Amino acid sequence: MRTSLNLKKVSIALLVVGCIVVIIIAWLNSNRYLPFQGAETTSSGSLKAVEKRLAKLKQAGEKPTLEQLADAFQPLGLIDAHNHNASSSRYLSMLDVWEEYHIDKVVLFGDISEPSAIGTDAAAWKAYQSSPDQFLPFFSGFDLHDEGSLDVIRDNLEKGYFGLGEIAGASTYSPIVSLAYWKASDPMDGFLPEIYDLIATYKAPILLHIDPPNGLPILKLEQALEAHPNTTFIFAHMNAYNSPEEIDRLLGIYPNLYADFFAGFSVYNPDGGGHPEIFIPIMKKYPDRFILSSDSGYGIESEEQAIDAMYRILYLLDDPALAKKIAHDNMMAIIQAQPATMTQLSAIQELASKNGKAYNYDNLSKLEAGKILADAEKG
Ligand SMILES: [Zn+2]
Repeated sequence: MRTSLNLKKVSIALLVVGCIVVIIIAWLNSNRYLPFQGAETTSSGSLKAVEKRLAKLKQAGEKPTLEQLADAFQPLGLIDAHNHNASSSRYLSMLDVWEEYHIDKVVLFGDISEPSAIGTDAAAWKAYQSSPDQFLPFFSGFDLHDEGSLDVIRDNLEKGYFGLGEIAGASTYSPIVSLAYWKASDPMDGFLPEIYDLIATYKAPILLHIDPPNGLPILKLEQALEAHPNTTFIFAHMNAYNSPEEIDRLLGIYPNLYADFFAGFSVYNPDGGGHPEIFIPIMKKYPDRFILSSDSGYGIESEEQAIDAMYRILYLLDDPALAKKIAHDNMMAIIQAQPATMTQLSAIQELASKNGKAYNYDNLSKLEAGKILADAEKG
């Protein structure tokens, strides 16, 4: 009698413990897919680490080297938001440089608005498939004067590309972009208005090259920004041949506009005037609207010099919390806003039916879906 009572007690206790374990596992699983989980603690930890390292650098009182800057800002996870190395020989040759200087992620594409871009788009995709945590592929291989461009764009965004770029929205003076076969005459040319509406449904951005950054091209850009308020526009190398006042004006009027800051131009290109500090006040005024890029070192000594310049801008900010936004968070906010596509979801469903794994489809982002699929591809 007594033993059976004890047995009963033990089995009830076991049942309770079992229930608690099941509840804990379910709770952990439900949290696994929440974006930014634990971001608070990680971010304050990383900011403190950066503050400490910067204080040391300042104490030394000398101009810091690239190595010192890369080390100081490593916890922020710097993203290069505009990079042209999408060909297998080029991005493979850069892997060591990115690792050495702690470039956490690269927005990768190749040629600009011409048929050869179809090949470099494919190379960007290949890089992403091999390292989904390192690369964010964009594409540019479509003729914006042809209605068929809408199908190309839909297919690529469905597949998992994160944005359009670099797109020639207007070019008169750039020796390369002005010759681009599929360039637009202005940011409202061809099927661009339809393209803006289409990409808004995917929350995907367009990285637009516009030169000169004044006159008719800017009037047309302003028309586009106003007529397509749900589309995210990134003005490529917005600081090139442009003034802080004009950037201030445009960012002030259009909340759907982001500034890609090509640090190398303002820090090292003689045409940039050699006073990058004049842009710091507008970065402080619009902390969520700037992203940093190397533009693969266009017009300066090297891509390494362009990376050096990105870190010099972060150093000039003298504000680790703001540096974190401009180095990493602003770009990731644009990427993480994009939901998984129907094409990605059905591919994951097919994967699940093959490998028997359960995936949480609720609120899955394009980034998360892309990683699941790329990892499955690698096996
Ligand atoms: Zn570029």
